Amino acid sequence: MASSLQHYRNIAPYAASDTASRGRAHPEGGPGYRNEFQRDRDRIIHSSAFRRLEYKTQVFVNHEGDLFRTRLTHSLEVAQIARTIARALGLHEDLTEAICLAHDLGHTPFGHAGQDALNSCMKPYGGFEHNLQSLRVVDELEQKYAEFDGLNLSFETREGILKHCSPNNALQLGELGRRFLNKSQPSLEAQLANLADEVAYNNHDVDDGLRSGFITVEQLQEVSFFRERYQMVAKDYPQLSARRVKYEVVRRMITSHVNDIIGTTQANLKKHNINSPEEVRALPSAIVSFSAELREQNKELKQFLFHNLYRHYRVQRMSRKAKQLIGEQFEAYMDDPRLLPNKYQSRVKAMEKESGVDGRARAIADYIAGMTDRYAIAEHDRLFNPHRIA
Ligand code: MG
Repeated sequence: MASSLQHYRNIAPYAASDTASRGRAHPEGGPGYRNEFQRDRDRIIHSSAFRRLEYKTQVFVNHEGDLFRTRLTHSLEVAQIARTIARALGLHEDLTEAICLAHDLGHTPFGHAGQDALNSCMKPYGGFEHNLQSLRVVDELEQKYAEFDGLNLSFETREGILKHCSPNNALQLGELGRRFLNKSQPSLEAQLANLADEVAYNNHDVDDGLRSGFITVEQLQEVSFFRERYQMVAKDYPQLSARRVKYEVVRRMITSHVNDIIGTTQANLKKHNINSPEEVRALPSAIVSFSAELREQNKELKQFLFHNLYRHYRVQRMSRKAKQLIGEQFEAYMDDPRLLPNKYQSRVKAMEKESGVDGRARAIADYIAGMTDRYAIAEHDRLFNPHRIA
């Protein structure tokens, strides 16, 4: 197929190449007028798991307010930030976008509380990790194509989705797990998606935190990264309403992050004289990064958010409820899989046949991880509320 990169005016020699992709598990014909990574992105957007992100918690449960981030809007913000940087650095924008849109597909309902709850339920059966679950979603759980399970994505997109991996799991993933064992790096696009995730949540959590009233502008003055930009905005626009000041500060925070990543990464590429994707992979550490200064400032911001937002008593209350909702359902289904909807009963049977009780637990974890917040709440009610018709 003719080089589909030609419409990328600014594609760098170290960018991933869709024409030199390591391919898909099930070989397919060319993608026609799209390139391979555009095809991946489109499959991700058309997946059921992607649509479910709309009703999955980022920090605030969806029904707490219409303006808070959900996993879906978070994923879109990650992709938007990463695409800007990808373009500036001459990376493959479509691959970057595909990875970003898929990075949270395996997230449970109720954010990190949900993931922790499911992980503790799954402890005796191999554990649960949302990042690995994202890979399970695109490799197996989406079932809508005639010729294969999963979305049959390119190696490079799958590699980017798998950000972390224990050595044990890596051993079972073959080629894809290799870099976690020999400590090599993924593509620049994967490195970028990983960092853009952090940029997105650090900044939108400030915005959502302020909107909720759980944190205040006064409290945020202790965070130097926020304070510096706040003072600049106050100086530039002394008459601006408090609401607009907040948006202007967050906007400048995102811009600073983006500029910092572009500048630092360009310097790193130069310093290591990087001219190909292979050279990127062979390095002992990531090339796409924050400057040391910004990393320090981010640490301060993260600690602030941890203590004042993620540990806020109202977030904690929801986390506690999430643990109960997930824990009780898992226990009931493990105890008696006949409580599951028919479709999932057959999956439990098939997986149990293959790997015993671990298989039963994994099939149940797949079911629970796929739930949206509101589905999990309704299903819990159907299971345990004696006054409700099941
Ligand atoms: Mg994320």
